[in-house]
Amino acid sequence: MKSYSLLIDGAPVTAQASFESEDPFQGKPWALIPRATAQHVDAAVEAAYRALHQGPWSGFNATQRGALLRRLGDLLAEHSETLASTEVRDNGKLLSDMRKQLSYEPQVFYYYAGLADKIEGSLLPSDKADILNFTRHEPVGVVAIITAWNAPINLLAKKLAPALAAGCTVVVKPSEHASASTLELATLIEKAGFPNGVVNVVTGFGDEVGSPLVSHSKVSKVAFTGSENTGKRVYELAARSLKKVTLELGGKSPNIVFPDANLENAANGVVAGVFAASGQTCIAGARLLVHRSILEEFSERVKSVAAGVRMGNPMDLDTELGPIANRQQFEKIRQYLDIARSDGAELLLGGKRAERPECGDGLFIEPTIYARGDNQMRIAREEIFGPVLVIIPFDDDEQAIAIANDSPYGLAAGVWTNDMRRMVHMSGKLQVGTVWINTYRAVSFMSPFGGYKASGIGRENGREAIYAYLQTKSVWLSTATNVPNPFIMR
Ligand code: NDP
Repeated sequence: MKSYSLLIDGAPVTAQASFESEDPFQGKPWALIPRATAQHVDAAVEAAYRALHQGPWSGFNATQRGALLRRLGDLLAEHSETLASTEVRDNGKLLSDMRKQLSYEPQVFYYYAGLADKIEGSLLPSDKADILNFTRHEPVGVVAIITAWNAPINLLAKKLAPALAAGCTVVVKPSEHASASTLELATLIEKAGFPNGVVNVVTGFGDEVGSPLVSHSKVSKVAFTGSENTGKRVYELAARSLKKVTLELGGKSPNIVFPDANLENAANGVVAGVFAASGQTCIAGARLLVHRSILEEFSERVKSVAAGVRMGNPMDLDTELGPIANRQQFEKIRQYLDIARSDGAELLLGGKRAERPECGDGLFIEPTIYARGDNQMRIAREEIFGPVLVIIPFDDDEQAIAIANDSPYGLAAGVWTNDMRRMVHMSGKLQVGTVWINTYRAVSFMSPFGGYKASGIGRENGREAIYAYLQTKSVWLSTATNVPNPFIMR
């Protein structure tokens, strides 16, 4: 089995214990992941703290930091095939999808490399005589980066790149279910030329590694992607020492289809929105809101596209739907299929483990659709994080908006229409961080991404994201030749 090490203070570190990571297609363990302890966390944070305040990194200017980020982007491109195949084995991601993703990921590093030396303070107008007042943007400190298992490199890149561009140092903790690609990426950090301690990686379990990391007194900020419940726990832990946080959490996003839309495009968009990555994306369009006048016709259309999806070995380039990434998630989805059954949901497609020959012993779930659902059903309110779609009818625009917004989440929404007035109206009324019109799942490092309501706090991607890793200092400089009366506020 492949065996990995932690990265602490620039050196590979072996943990005394390790745990197995399972290949979800083969259904067998394939790698040994180090099981770090609170002592490893402490060593990693101390190394990051030293690197921030004493090491060469603290003297680097923003252009130099940008050059290292660019080099890391290049290395990511050079090692993309290893990273892609690691993710396929560890996480069941499709090789075709990972190749595409990894050809894009270096751009995230190039973008923030370029932004690093374009962060400018301001010279402010002053209402006081003989005063020069200006602002500086300084790194927020040591950042704890905690990621979910569904897209480890992508979730890491959009935190790591702006954090390093801002001049922070980091300690990364990936999910216990998918740590291998992050540990592979860790081997590129030194090659890129980052000084020791700037990037550290500790792997292990949430309570053994995640909690001590979030609670550590020398961590100033937590950048987290994960579920709503863990996000709340992390927020509470971080609040005890008033750490800054960004939280990218779950979703139950609506895809809203109006009769005037191009229905063929809409059906493809809906299927891609919920079944891509086997539904294991935070932005999965898991609620399909369809105008009642086209309910039957459109439901059948979506069913027919979904029924034709090719399942199988994620290494095969023509596979469209791979396995569920880990056994725990597989069981969770099956529980939701039971809940749907006992709640009387009307099954249109799937609803069970896939037992097709091409799926072997892998952890596959059939693409599943429930027809004529109700927004109050558990399968319509809770995040399943699997290939499960519930169709909900609506009668007019206002009702579509009301149903879409009647959710604890607010990550994203899709709207399918050719009516320009409706496009503008809907985009203003939907309480979500991203609205897609006549498309779905379009994301870019250039465009802010994040959630309303229980879907999170703060934004990633785009220029805005770097400010989550900076703090503003206001500097007052007196040019007066004599000190005025000290007992009167200036
Ligand atoms: P979890 O919330 O279970 O875990 C997320 C991370 O938190 C993991 O690294 C986990 O470690 C860690 N963790 C667990 N307990 C603690 C703790 N007490 N303190 C600190 N860290 C802890 O999420 P999943 O990994 O299951 O990911 C799926 C979720 O992520 C879904 O809800 C999905 O919507 C969301 N997500 C959101 C995205 C967004 O951008 N909004 C993007 C992608 C996913 P361990 O695995 O070891 O338990």
